[in-house]
Amino acid sequence: MSTASAASSPEMEPNMTASRAFDPSDDPIFEEPVFTPEARFIQAPGKINLHLAVGEPAENGYHPLVTVFAAVEMWEEVIADVTNKPGITLTMSLVAGSLVADQYQAGAFDPADVALDETNLVYRAAAAVLAEHKLVPEDIALHLHIAKAIPVAGGMAGGSADAAATILLTDNHLYEAGLIDEPTPFERLDAIAASLGADVPFMLRACLDADHPEYASIAVGTGVGEKLEPIKRHDKADLAFVLVAAPFGLSTPAVFRALDEGRAQGVYPEAGDMSVPEEVLRALTGKGMNQQVRASILAPHVRNDLQEPALNVRPELRERLSNPLALRGFISGSGPTIALLAPNSAAAMILAMELREAGLFAADTTLL
Ligand code: ATP
Repeated sequence: MSTASAASSPEMEPNMTASRAFDPSDDPIFEEPVFTPEARFIQAPGKINLHLAVGEPAENGYHPLVTVFAAVEMWEEVIADVTNKPGITLTMSLVAGSLVADQYQAGAFDPADVALDETNLVYRAAAAVLAEHKLVPEDIALHLHIAKAIPVAGGMAGGSADAAATILLTDNHLYEAGLIDEPTPFERLDAIAASLGADVPFMLRACLDADHPEYASIAVGTGVGEKLEPIKRHDKADLAFVLVAAPFGLSTPAVFRALDEGRAQGVYPEAGDMSVPEEVLRALTGKGMNQQVRASILAPHVRNDLQEPALNVRPELRERLSNPLALRGFISGSGPTIALLAPNSAAAMILAMELREAGLFAADTTLL
């Protein structure tokens, strides 16, 4: 697995604008703690949704979904290390050159917005794995560090990815420390993931080693997104995107509320047929297709029922959705990050560069 987002690849550096020629060593937010040789790390990717059909909320308030999750080549990392301080402690740094680092440098993201306390998804994930074994945080002394790269509250499930990585790291820690006799069965870890959030079970699969039987980097999610059917591919689904992060976050519940209100007023259509179009599956699973063919099959069939509600909450996003170099622009998940589907990786690289030169937070990427 690669560690860096596309924006941080060395070949991009000559094209960086002056505002990006920033020395991260000047700012402690870019510093990682010194780890012991016992430290273990897991890389956690971001995701976009290539299909997101949202039904009417059930009595418990949750919306049934049919979605296609697709992990992208944009990684953050969670590192678990032993410490002599009982309990679970958290720290966070930003990955230089990542979208979230760009947002921070432009004053568009405040790391203090991610509370490093027991409300953090990483803390909650670790505590949930402990609770599975009737343990409490005071039974261990574990330091968890988040090296953040994915925009926060961006619709790319960065927090969910951290939670998924932490589930795996904590289970491994308990096993290595002899606190459990064998690793927790995947089904139990999956249930813990679902208890933390609808995107966490997919991220759990995407954080596994690629040779693990449950590994998936693309999957159809139903239920609230937690029932997953991996999409089996003959060739790597080679699709190129530019991700454009916003200078603000969007609250997922607020976007779902906007959808419900809009539907109640007849502004947005009902969900109708929620199934994944055959073309979307073909673009992902077809044999021997090049990027351009896949992209042109996919482009007209991307669906996101949360797009109009997200645009209603943040109308300024609309103008960013169309670009002459992209076959299709759409909001990722509940937004505000925009995914521009490019005909191929070369076009994506040029487009990302142009958008960065225009002052936007943009990075080219491919599906995992
Ligand atoms: P999704 O696509 O799953 O709705 P998102 O990408 O929109 O998620 P996240 O970045 O996962 O949003 O985080 C949403 C909120 O969760 C943020 O407002 C943040 O304060 C809180 N949060 C808690 N833990 C974390 C974490 N480890 N990383 C990021 N955000 C976290």
